[in-house]
Amino acid sequence: MRLRDFVGIFKINRLRLTKKERLVDNVYLFEFTSKNKINWEAGQYGFFWFWEVRKRKYRIFTIASTKEENKIMIATIIGKNPSPFKERLLNMRIDQKILMIGPVGWLYVSDYQIPNALIAGGIGVTPIRSMLKAIDTEKIADIEVFYIDTRKDFLFKEEIAAIKNKKVKIHFLDNKNEFKEKLAAFRNKYQNAKYFISGPPMMIKQVRDDLIKNNIKKNRIIYDPFIGY
Ligand SMILES: Cc1cc2nc3c(=O)[nH]c(=O)nc-3n(C[C@H](O)[C@H](O)[C@H](O)COP(=O)(O)OP(=O)(O)OC[C@H]3O[C@@H](n4cnc5c(N)ncnc54)[C@H](O)[C@@H]3O)c2cc1C
Repeated sequence: MRLRDFVGIFKINRLRLTKKERLVDNVYLFEFTSKNKINWEAGQYGFFWFWEVRKRKYRIFTIASTKEENKIMIATIIGKNPSPFKERLLNMRIDQKILMIGPVGWLYVSDYQIPNALIAGGIGVTPIRSMLKAIDTEKIADIEVFYIDTRKDFLFKEEIAAIKNKKVKIHFLDNKNEFKEKLAAFRNKYQNAKYFISGPPMMIKQVRDDLIKNNIKKNRIIYDPFIGY
């Protein structure tokens, strides 16, 4: 973590909704635009605010898009009995506004010259989409993506699978044993890799504990638990 990972906390952006789409079952995508130029590292997140909502007026969402795409994209699960915040989000109409503080966060690839493992569980794929979209060269060390989704929804699958970069290998996995095997193969192959984990807190804990048990140093494991799931 560095100071620059948090400077975005002083930036308040008014975002205008430009697109709302149901991706699968209970997962929705929202796209926004801003009059201000917003900069962020692929993988960072924002605090999204509705002042008019009762109780907790904000939620944290990772930005699934890159700054080059020129839009703020988020994806989130909205179930049958949503929180007041998510109900408000779901009912947003095109051109309505939401406030975003940020972006901030430390879950981004800072060194492309070492091997990197990008590990996502379910909705935790949002930063991984952004990180993959941001890669625009093959002059990098190997990157492997381990995207586990036991519900087999695989959000953004077509877009992610379409990424053609000789240095990027992507595994879509719906089985925990296969996930463990593939990650173990990566661990054994690369001694100096970094591991980025994104997903629900329980999944992060399991993957992190397993890496540490297998002698991966704590400072090589970067993670963002999606607190709230
Ligand atoms: C770094 C980060 C990135 C995230 N990115 C995404 C994303 O891209 N997409 C996405 O869908 N979600 C993301 N989340 C989770 C998101 O902020 C919401 O918490 C989640 O979507 C559930 O919201 P909700 O309104 O449905 O439920 P909530 O009303 O928020 O509550 C669900 C349960 O979690 C508890 N809870 C929620 N937030 C906290 C908290 N901060 N501390 C302690 N307990 C809490 C509540 O008390 C409740 O029991 C992210 C969270 C973090 C921290």
